[in-house]
Amino acid sequence: MGQAGILRQVALKNLRDMTYQEMLADVNALGEKPYRASQVYSWVFHRGATDISEMTDVSKTLRSKLSGIFYIGGVNVENVRTSSDGTIKFLSRLEDGLTIESVLIPEAGRLTLCVSTQAGCAMGCVFCLTGSGGLDRNLTMAEMAGQVFAAKLLIKPDERITNAVLMGMGEPLANYDNVSRFLSTLVDPAGFGLSHNKVTVSTAGLVPGIRRLGQETKVNLAVSLNAVDDATRERIMPINRRWPIEALMRAMREFCAHGKRHVTIEYVLLKNVNDSPREAMQLAALLKGLPCKVNLIPFNEFDSSRFQSATPERVSLFHKILMDAGQAVFVRSSKGVDILAACGQLRGEKSVL
Ligand code: SAH
Ligand code: SF4
Repeated sequence: MGQAGILRQVALKNLRDMTYQEMLADVNALGEKPYRASQVYSWVFHRGATDISEMTDVSKTLRSKLSGIFYIGGVNVENVRTSSDGTIKFLSRLEDGLTIESVLIPEAGRLTLCVSTQAGCAMGCVFCLTGSGGLDRNLTMAEMAGQVFAAKLLIKPDERITNAVLMGMGEPLANYDNVSRFLSTLVDPAGFGLSHNKVTVSTAGLVPGIRRLGQETKVNLAVSLNAVDDATRERIMPINRRWPIEALMRAMREFCAHGKRHVTIEYVLLKNVNDSPREAMQLAALLKGLPCKVNLIPFNEFDSSRFQSATPERVSLFHKILMDAGQAVFVRSSKGVDILAACGQLRGEKSVL
């Protein structure tokens, strides 16, 4: 970014970084009527304006006033790769030079955007490529919204993003405030207009964040469980030392109690680590009574990974044991594996694009 860009960033506020309430407060402070905030908000998030001058139903005088205070900043898409299965991965550069990745996944009747919430991740799960480089920083609301706008430019005019999963780079609940502000515009009809039940936040298990998400939003929750006993989970997910399985299960039950929701349990199958028939039975017992479905994810291997995927036989057996126990369970076919766009393979610029 040039000096002009830096000065602009310091002096002006990015409208994509503001919730409706925040815009309303600023519009009030300018002595303008509240409906002006609705107009600006809709221009920014619903109509995707990239410049204040596009807001043609706002008077010229007000537009020039706004231009002295605000700007509309996005992310710069630098690389787009399309997989043989139609999955599109794109790499965006942020204003400070860091890079993040997002993935568009087309499936029958829906188009899902997988959004990154942090540059890197501090959780250190040992099987995850994103986690291996540590955390650079939290993403702002504008940078999350920027991924939606960038994705919209990559799809055909007759296509529409129907679902969003906060399952890209980073741990969403470790960036709770920005994530919840982004969620507010994602589900606002005057914003991106997705329905609550088409939005899912995936977490490694930050218990206080799960509680807040349950109380403050109506979106869905996915929990990356990945093990059935604390010793194994601690070994692969250090966060388990802070919030062990029992605390996590309690938080999930509470989450479900808010507005009859269900949880998705993500379980990455790692060869000889967590893929035995005994563990499948333990998982079924652990989840008994919890309104949930289980996604079994065969581990996606990458160059430096010290784990291997469970064999197809073990995956089938694990699946069968859960089914026989009456558990809703699916084996998630990995999308975009050929372009390193599958779960846990996002790593920004550090990946082999
Ligand atoms: N931090 C959040 C969301 C991003 S990770 C979370 O952990 O839930 C998204 C999912 O990818 C998690 O379920 C994680 O367990 C899974 N994952 C990470 N690395 C993987 C890999 N190499 N193969 C398959 N799944 C992986
Ligand atoms: Fe972070 Fe999720 Fe990867 Fe764990 S699995 S390191 S929480 S991105």
